[in-house]
Amino acid sequence: MYFRLSVKSIFTRLLTILSISVLFGFIIGQPLLVLCISSLALLCWHYHHLLKLVKWLWRSKTISPPQSEGVWGRIYDGLYRQIRQHRHKQKQLNDRIRKFRDGAEALPDAALVLSDELTILWGNKKAQRILGIRWPSDVGQRIDNLIRFPEFSKYLEVGNFEQPCHIISPVNSELQLELRLMAYGSDQVLFLARDVSKIKRLEEMRRDFVANVSHELKTPLTVVRGYVEMILATEHALDPHWQKAFSTIETQVSRMDRLVEQLLVLSRVENHADAEDKQLVDMPRLIRGLVEDATWLNQDKQHEITADIADDLLVDGIETELKSACLNLISNAIAYTSAHGNVHISWLLSGNKVKFSVKDNGPGIRPEHVNRITERFFRVDKSRSRDTGGSGLGLSIVKHVLYHHNAELAIESQWGEGSEFIIYFEAINRF
Ligand code: ADP
Repeated sequence: MYFRLSVKSIFTRLLTILSISVLFGFIIGQPLLVLCISSLALLCWHYHHLLKLVKWLWRSKTISPPQSEGVWGRIYDGLYRQIRQHRHKQKQLNDRIRKFRDGAEALPDAALVLSDELTILWGNKKAQRILGIRWPSDVGQRIDNLIRFPEFSKYLEVGNFEQPCHIISPVNSELQLELRLMAYGSDQVLFLARDVSKIKRLEEMRRDFVANVSHELKTPLTVVRGYVEMILATEHALDPHWQKAFSTIETQVSRMDRLVEQLLVLSRVENHADAEDKQLVDMPRLIRGLVEDATWLNQDKQHEITADIADDLLVDGIETELKSACLNLISNAIAYTSAHGNVHISWLLSGNKVKFSVKDNGPGIRPEHVNRITERFFRVDKSRSRDTGGSGLGLSIVKHVLYHHNAELAIESQWGEGSEFIIYFEAINRF
């Protein structure tokens, strides 16, 4: 129903009332008096309804308007209609908010909605349990005032939210949490905290298991190898058939020994994440040493090994780990590039990063394998890798070392033309 109050209709009504009053005034001989009385009555009637309206708007607890006739009745109806529409929209909005909250409560993670200034707007019950957020007293507090961990403050400062941040729960030191932040709506941030204690415990068990097994295998392998070498040293006492068998045993035991050694390095690198062990590493000296060793060990294949090393670039890190990572990349280039190929090693500034690169003109890596070669035990060509003594662990070691050093590995390779393995280091220190 739609009611139109036009100027024309107002005037028509007013004129009708006033004309009737004047006519009645003429009949009783007092037109002016009757006109004044009827105007006053009209004014009183409007004021009366105005007061009723104010009383209903400000003091009444019901939403139904007072009963009235005529134009005021229409006004009340219009207002009532508006209030009902508003209530209906409010109810729909509340339903939506309730559904969102139910959804957030059903999440297995702790969820907080933050403003773009990282102050808390809302949180689910799990956030209260595992992050110790108090509801509603912590609303409006900045999240880093409540979660006070240096790694979390640094995470917010750096602002790279693609990677999660790991902390111990502020309320239970046995819980390990993985935190993620993501932009949400136009000016809000969704903060999720997941309990990853079980996964971390399993990872730790796996790492300990591999480290223990590798360690236990080391002694028997050394003993077997020693005996085989001893037997081979007396080769004139053996007939050719046994000689062949023993040299095969020696090759295989050496392979196993290398594998065990690499597994031990990998678990050492995985468990070793102490920032305190880091110090300024003289990378130019370290790389020059590796280049010399590579040239010396490369007598068989006669590669042309060249180097371009900037003298004044150092990094903060763990020297043994950095050496292991660089050595792995150089050994791979030598192992996979055929005889008389080129290997170029460089240590240079690239933008605001320091770049260690090993470039070869070997077989290259197919694009579909590039993303997988840093996986444990992944080898592109198993038989060739076996010939080179490869275990598929070298690049996993590199990956873990780089993770400790906030460095990144980039692989650029053209199938059939060669590969370049590049490490970008963040920290730069000059002499
Ligand atoms: P491996 O001990 O087998 O060398 P890595 O983890 O070091 O193990 O390397 C994984 C795989 O990546 C290798 O098996 C090889 O196929 C490939 N690869 C590594 N470096 C090179 C390279 N410079 N050129 C071609 N392929 C390479």
